[in-house]
Amino acid sequence: MRKLRTKLLTPLTPDAAVIYKDHVIAWDDAGISYIRRYDPALDSDCENRRDQLCLPGLIDVHTHLSQYRIRGAYEPSLLSWLDRHVFPEEARSADPAYARSVADEFFQALFAAGTTTSVIYTAPFHEACEIAFASADASGARAFIGLTMMDRNSPPELIQNTDYAYSRSVALYERWHGQNPRLDYIFTPRFALSCSAELMAKTARFISDRGAWLQTHLSENLQEIASVLKIFKASTYTQVYEQLGLLTPHSIFAHAIHLAGSELDLLAENNCRIAHCPDSNFFLKSGEFNYPAFEAKGIQIGLGSDVAAGTTLNMLYHAKIANFRQSVHSLKPQRLFYHLTLGNARLLGLDERIGSLEPGKEADLCFLKTPPIPDEDLLAALCFWGHEFPVTETVIAGRTVFSALEG
Ligand SMILES: [Zn+2]
Repeated sequence: MRKLRTKLLTPLTPDAAVIYKDHVIAWDDAGISYIRRYDPALDSDCENRRDQLCLPGLIDVHTHLSQYRIRGAYEPSLLSWLDRHVFPEEARSADPAYARSVADEFFQALFAAGTTTSVIYTAPFHEACEIAFASADASGARAFIGLTMMDRNSPPELIQNTDYAYSRSVALYERWHGQNPRLDYIFTPRFALSCSAELMAKTARFISDRGAWLQTHLSENLQEIASVLKIFKASTYTQVYEQLGLLTPHSIFAHAIHLAGSELDLLAENNCRIAHCPDSNFFLKSGEFNYPAFEAKGIQIGLGSDVAAGTTLNMLYHAKIANFRQSVHSLKPQRLFYHLTLGNARLLGLDERIGSLEPGKEADLCFLKTPPIPDEDLLAALCFWGHEFPVTETVIAGRTVFSALEG
């Protein structure tokens, strides 16, 4: 049992969070045992972390493991960026040794940033996806991981035939679903441009039968959207996914920038989830996410780094950018913090297990060294420059996966 004397900050609702000053948090691999005010008579055996802040482990609902090494590779927009930087880099993961070194590096970087749960696309090779799962399993990560599917309009070194994309994804699902309580498989068609209708429809039937998770990209870039509407002879991008059966409560759509009102209705009616990735959206000049429109429809929004179009895995940086990249609408610190923690956990159906600091929840924790800031200003400081606060320790399911402390 670990027992620490520290300050804690935890979300309560989308609009409220609470600080517990000078408290003790105790946990083991079964979960958080208790949180209580420090009592010198009972707690003299605590580790002293009074100069630190304990948060729930941070959650990233959209990231690309195999792109980790090309963060910041410059191109003015999405489709040429994919061709010039992303596809050549993902092709390198056909080599298992390369895929393994990127996966190990990626998970260590996540933990060093205080991220405990992530939703991941891998390169479009079965073995690279299997290697990512093995790395997550060994390192202690909590993750949803999917083999990127692409059987159309893709470069020869990456393109899969339809049977490979489908059957290998199903095999990975069968291998990893229910295997480890921290890991799950997520079906991952890259986007409508690179997937055939046949592949997406077969995938939709499987995920509906099993209640499996699915992630893809939706309406990121105007040129992409025009091509999708032409290829599928559809009036909207969301309608393409709807007609193929991909709109489910276990479907996570990244970006969703350029949508008509009827598309928001479809996403709301089907209880779909949105991965909002503001850093990526402005790096590639894709456009501004209409946060208030999604909020008004009651659609669940999560925050993602979208590395490598997002330039860092540090989710506190993405909290800041989520506010900065709304040109009119302002997101409060309470809301930003909720998105990184309990909100992202809820989006993934994990809010009973993780996302806040409560006895009985699993111990996914992030400790940060904080500058001397008054408590009333701490949450805002965390959301707007917390990415500069050093992470001292990251814990997943009670196990320390990262420590910057001596000894
Ligand atoms: Zn992405």
